[in-house]
This record gives sequence, structure tokens and C-alpha cells, in this order.
Amino acid sequence: MRVEIGPEFAESTDAHAAAAIIRKCVHCGFCNATCPTYRLTGDELDGPRGRIYLIKQLLEGGAAGERTRSHLDRCLTCLNCETTCPSGVEYGRLVEIGRPLVEARAPRSLGARLQRALLREGLTSRGFAAAVALGRRVRPLLPRGWRDRLPPRSVATTPAHEPAPPTPIVPATHVPATSEGSDRAPRRVLLLAGCVQPSLLPAIDRATERVLAAAGVGTRVVAGAGCCGALREHLSDHAGALHAMRRNVDAWWPLLSCGEADAIVVNASACALMVKNYPRALAEDPRYAAKAATVGATARDLGELVAALAPRLRGRVRAARAGPIAFHPPCTLQHGQRLGGVVEAALRGLGFDLRPAVRDANLCCGSAGAYSILEPAIATALRDQKVGALEETGAGTIASANVGCILHLQAGTTRPVRHWIEIVADALAAQ
Ligand code: SF4
Ligand code: SF4
Repeated sequence: MRVEIGPEFAESTDAHAAAAIIRKCVHCGFCNATCPTYRLTGDELDGPRGRIYLIKQLLEGGAAGERTRSHLDRCLTCLNCETTCPSGVEYGRLVEIGRPLVEARAPRSLGARLQRALLREGLTSRGFAAAVALGRRVRPLLPRGWRDRLPPRSVATTPAHEPAPPTPIVPATHVPATSEGSDRAPRRVLLLAGCVQPSLLPAIDRATERVLAAAGVGTRVVAGAGCCGALREHLSDHAGALHAMRRNVDAWWPLLSCGEADAIVVNASACALMVKNYPRALAEDPRYAAKAATVGATARDLGELVAALAPRLRGRVRAARAGPIAFHPPCTLQHGQRLGGVVEAALRGLGFDLRPAVRDANLCCGSAGAYSILEPAIATALRDQKVGALEETGAGTIASANVGCILHLQAGTTRPVRHWIEIVADALAAQ
């Protein structure tokens, strides 16, 4: 696509980067076929090609008002279009540049800004855990939308043990060396606790520690590390996101640089993608660029780590008791990190009965960070389609790999929706 940058953006490096991305697009429209919002609304401007056109128009000095902003807002940033595009158009980077430019031209109403600020500050604040505890007490009195998003107290189904304190290492059990390559996997990892997950679904971290310990990997949650920054980034707070990234780098660096930890492991795929993007986000920061590059290079999604550790776990997992499972791969796992099939292969390798070929498995479930709150109509329609596809497999349990997807899907089904690592931990516990 041809782009002539207008005088307003002549000096903007972001605008030139966006134009370079747009020039790769050949208008073929293949991406529309896999775009959840285009499939739902049938509107070209709710598809990737149309959104690319809207950003091009803006860069060339054309109009960009509320309508343009709303077409960009409706994008889930699921990156399915990037996976599909034969020309390598980096749509995710493009929309990241385009959104603030459009927002500057067409500012949101006061109410919308307040809603975003509340979400940004509320979900990432220290007071979130207390708010969740209070919400659980008055759960029956909450409006339906809130109740659906607030799971009842999450109980670790693995044998009872105290939650890990913030800093000491959860020790690994001794695992003999194997000949299948798992010995190159890390032995001491730092686990990202994140923002909402420890309050809403704390059993996920306990299950992660338990499975990794059984595979000979010690885990440690570093006090001082917290939200990865993704939520702030999605809510147009780029400065706040950078602050969160630098804080995490500062918290992890002392242990990474002295060899006390080999890797950072993240059990929410959206956060794993964000941490892997730290090198790009902090590349222009002379104080943090090198450290961020190391952090990004050592970051592992839990799925890739457990896949590498599978030889150490085989024979220690009684998978049959779990029954049939339908897996929903979050977009941040399959499109963002390009780890499609990794968790599925690991679970099958451990003997779990994973239902094959979930219909439209490449499509987003509608969760997408704060999207399900900000764009509830589209989010609910996508969730219902996804739940239908998962339920038609006949599986009794639905599994996923990201806290947001798990909560969103659970609000649309009576079948249990769990993080896959909880299912593996239960199978260990059953020995
Ligand atoms: S990121 Fe997802 S929702 Fe957005 S344009 Fe691409 S496929 Fe469509
Ligand atoms: S698939 Fe790629 S090249 Fe084709 S229209 Fe979409 S973004 Fe452009």
C-alpha cells in the first residue's frame, strides 16, 4: 500500500515506522477471513485491512474522528491477522502506534477516560486483593456482570500446603538426568506473580510451583516484581507500562545477573508475551536496554518450559483421571508468542485425553485484556461462539493458559474452566 506521510507527521519516527509497515500490505484481504471482529460485523473497517487503511489515512493528514477511534477500539489485538498475513505485515505494532495518534485527534469523553483510569489503577493496585476479598463476601449482592467476573474463592486442588511466601525458593525435588534434552531446561526460575491472578485464581501459581518442583525446577516469586505492564499498555497508559517494565527489570536483575536464576517463567500467556516484548519496548532507554534484552531472552511461557521438562514428568502423572479436556489456546500464546500447539503437545505427551480439532481454535474468545469490559457486546458474542465450539467436543473440562480467558470463558459455561497447569498438578497429586 502506498503511503505519503503528511507534514504533521514528517518528523515523527513512529509515523515513519507505521508507514513502513503499511507499505508491506498488498491489499489481498486474506487477513479478513481470520479476523473475529470482521467475521462478526461484516464491516471492512472492522477488519485488519480496513483498520490499516484508517491509519494510512491519518498519517496522510486525513480525518480521524470518533468513528476511526471506535473501529480501532473494536480490534482485540488478537494478532490472528499477523499469523495469516502472507506479506509479514506487523499489524500489532501498527495498531500500537496508530491508537494514541487517533486518540490525540479524537479524545475520549470524560466518562470513558474515567472508566479507563479506574480499570488501570484498580486492577493493578495493591488494594485489588482487598477489593476481591470484599466482593466475595457480598457476591450475591453484586450486579450480574461483576459476579460473573468474580470467581468464588479459588481452592488449590493439590494437597494442602501454605501459599509460598513472596521470596523464599520453592525447592525442587531431585530428578535424575534424562537423555531427552530436558537437562538443558532451567533449574531455578523466577515466577511472575502478575496483578489480578494471585487474587482471583491463586491456585494457578501453587500448581505451577508444584509441577515445576516435581520436574526438578525451583521457583521463586521476587517481591517488588508485579504487573507486567500489559494492562496499562492496553488502556493507553504507555508511560505507566514502561514504569512497570522497569520496576520488574530492577526486581529480577540482581538474581539473573549473578546466576541465582536461569529464567523468568510466566504462567499467563498475555504477560509472557509482554515480558518477551520488554527488549523492544525499552530499546531506546540507555539505562535499561541491555538488561531488558537479557530479561526478554530468558523469559519463558510456562507452556514451553513444561514442554521441555516433559521427559522429567513422564511416569509421574496419572493423566487418565482428568477425563477428556478441550483446550483453548489464547491468542497471546498462539499468535503473539507463536507457540501454537506447544501446550497441547505437552499435555498429550503426558497422557492427557485432549480433544482434537476444536472448531475455529485460531479465533479469539473475546477476553483480550480489558476488552470484555470495554466492548461487552462483541466480547460476549465471541465468548459464546468459543464456548459452543469447546463444548461440542464433549469434553467435561475446558482448559486454557491465561487468567483473562479462563475467567471470561467460565462466565459463559457451567463446565469447569481451568488453567492447564492445575490439571497437571492434580494428576501429580493423585499419585
Ligand atoms: S488483531 Fe485480531 S481483531 Fe484486530 S484486526 Fe487483527 S485479527 Fe482483527
Ligand atoms: S493479509 Fe496482509 S497483505 Fe493482505 S490485506 Fe491483510 S495485512 Fe494486507
